[in-house]
Amino acid sequence: MKTYDKQFIGGVWREGRGEHMLEDRDPYTGEVLCRYRSAGLADLDDAFAAARAAQKEWYALAPARRVEALERLWHTLDANRALLDECLLREAGCTVPKRAYEVGESVNLARYYMSFPYLLDGKIQESDNPGQMNYIFRQPRGVVTVIAPWNVPFILALRSVLPAVAAGNAVVLKPASDTPATAFILGELFQEAEMPAGLLNVVAGAGAEIGDALVRHPGGDMVSFTGSTEVGKRIGSLAGGRVCDVSLELGGNNSMLLLPDADLEKAAEKAVFGAFFHQGQICMGLNRILTLPENHDEFCRIFAEKVRALKAGNPADPEVFVGPLINHAQVERFEALLASTLEAGARTLVEGRTEGNVVHPWVLTEVDMSMPAACSEMFGPVVSILRAKDVEEQIALANATEYGLSGSVFGRDVYRAMQVARRLQSGMVHINDQSIGDEAHVMFGGEKQSGVGRFNGDWVLRKFTTEQWLAVTSSE
Ligand code: NAD
Repeated sequence: MKTYDKQFIGGVWREGRGEHMLEDRDPYTGEVLCRYRSAGLADLDDAFAAARAAQKEWYALAPARRVEALERLWHTLDANRALLDECLLREAGCTVPKRAYEVGESVNLARYYMSFPYLLDGKIQESDNPGQMNYIFRQPRGVVTVIAPWNVPFILALRSVLPAVAAGNAVVLKPASDTPATAFILGELFQEAEMPAGLLNVVAGAGAEIGDALVRHPGGDMVSFTGSTEVGKRIGSLAGGRVCDVSLELGGNNSMLLLPDADLEKAAEKAVFGAFFHQGQICMGLNRILTLPENHDEFCRIFAEKVRALKAGNPADPEVFVGPLINHAQVERFEALLASTLEAGARTLVEGRTEGNVVHPWVLTEVDMSMPAACSEMFGPVVSILRAKDVEEQIALANATEYGLSGSVFGRDVYRAMQVARRLQSGMVHINDQSIGDEAHVMFGGEKQSGVGRFNGDWVLRKFTTEQWLAVTSSE
């Protein structure tokens, strides 16, 4: 894989000026892909200054010119699928299906956001004051600070960067320190597509070293953060301290409810994907499956058989569905939470094992909500099956978490399944499907500790723009 060891600021590749050297490692082989010096505070100053200057020129262009530039970016991205694919394999340990999803959806996102420059609409309102007319103009925020996680690194950077830029803003992007190369590739694609210098700046470094300074930086007009609830709370309070708007897309603990008339074969097939896609490192992934006395044993039998058939190992192998966790610290955290769940009395339906950073899938039963596997976000290949006594208890269990991101309800009576879904405190629910789903034009977002605000489509357009009221009175 090509080495990415420079920061991308003002359209120029240059060595970071931070204190620490960081390593980008292949999570499967352990190989060091590149060493880079973290961005420092002086780099942040330069990145925000470059973004401010670029934004003014970018927004001064006619919408048609901005659409042309975004179209070039779309074509460039499309032409570089192989580069992205390789990076997601080596840097993030993504399997073949995960890479196919992430690369394909990235191209879709680029195509979808091309239309945004024409969507900045306004409003005219009557006035009670004689001779006055009220005009409401929609306009970009200015400079958007984007902070992205490592689990779906390209899409989760892109789904903020693209609408921000397409709505007339410039961006300073900080990727997770485990996955800097995906963000640098985005910088490279901006350059290849001849986007204006400074429109996207990429500053990589440890969140602990530059994160606070990035959020506090007066050069940023709003912060778009995707990551854990713990870090999201800190970012929200730092941004609140300087009265800066934020979008927070945070963690999840998502359930699948199997109603009395659920198709168990189909549910089991979907649950395998929902629980183990990208080795369980997906915010919308399934943490818990809520059965009933009448379907518990049958579901466990079908599900366990399917899970045992999953191949875990080298993500380069097309037959592998479960690849490595992102780093060894995550493996240790996962194992500690699993051990305390087993000590607390959970039973093993499918027993996994660990080889390097690869954890083979685990399925647990006899789990209650006090156990870590049920109440926390494990972010690894484990799913817990909880038996409820009736549908009311299924709903109560699904809601008995601090999170409220996504969920799933299986039932042949779709109207009844919808009625159950409407009672879940969850921003998103999938009927007769698993809980992972994201479409560029469809609303996305969580309740409770899973986030603040809504994303995608018109929701993100509104989030990344602001409005100005001009009260115009005739001079006569
Ligand atoms: P994380 O919160 O540890 O890190 C996310 C980003 O924040 C990284 O770039 C990190 O360097 C940065 N960061 C860390 N400390 C910071 C600070 N003090 N100030 C500013 N930035 C800081 O999350 P992660 O481990 O990279 O990703 C996994 C988490 O993300 C999971 O909780 C998952 O559920 C969540 N997630 C949510 C969504 C969603 O759309 N709701 C999508 C994907 C992932």
